Amino acid sequence: MDSPALRAWLHEFARRVAENSDHLTALDSEIGDADHGSNMDRGMAAAAAAIDSDPGAEPGQLLKLVGRTLVSTVGGAAGPLYGTLFLRMAAAAGDAGPLDAAGFAKALHAGLDGVMVRGRAEVGDKTMVDALAPAVDALEGELAAGAALDVALAAATTAAAAGRDATADRVARKGRASYLGERSIGHQDPGSASATLLVEAAAATLG
Ligand code: ADP
Ligand code: MG
Ligand code: MG
Repeated sequence: MDSPALRAWLHEFARRVAENSDHLTALDSEIGDADHGSNMDRGMAAAAAAIDSDPGAEPGQLLKLVGRTLVSTVGGAAGPLYGTLFLRMAAAAGDAGPLDAAGFAKALHAGLDGVMVRGRAEVGDKTMVDALAPAVDALEGELAAGAALDVALAAATTAAAAGRDATADRVARKGRASYLGERSIGHQDPGSASATLLVEAAAATLG
């Protein structure tokens, strides 16, 4: 995918985050400090403005700009983690120009690996990783089996949403929610909800 396609994805993610900001914050009010929606909305609004102000940016530069903007505008856990996701995607994309479907999946996988290393989170710890990891698995699996990108992204969306929903049954082991221990059970992880929006935005724009 070329720069216009990636811009459409990033703008769509920003739009969905803004639309769901209150919901994300409500989820965070149950097991955190009630700021995930406002954190992500502030960050993605700034990221959308940053890419608009650099119309010539190639895919790798675009992703780097988003990562840097998130790191510098979003405090707390999610800013550095989403920042890492996009910075690692940028590094994987390099400066080779447009990405094909496999290149996009590989970049997203690198982003996920970066989040897991930085956050020291595994699947099942009740974090954004619980939505992202199954999405990357589904995306890569479908593409490897010969599926078209739109089919693979639809499967990734279903997998992300299932991973998000499953966080409600888990005990949080990372981030603020982990302070609650067993009391975090019964509540969906806010970061898994925003990560699902990221995948949904990809399915809506890149397929
Ligand atoms: P904060 O907790 O600092 O207020 P946010 O509310 O914006 O930050 O983001 C919280 C989300 O960040 C959580 O719902 C979780 O998905 C994610 N998160 C927190 N810590 C980690 C971690 N160590 N690894 C991966 N994701 C994490
Ligand atoms: Mg919070
Ligand atoms: Mg906070």
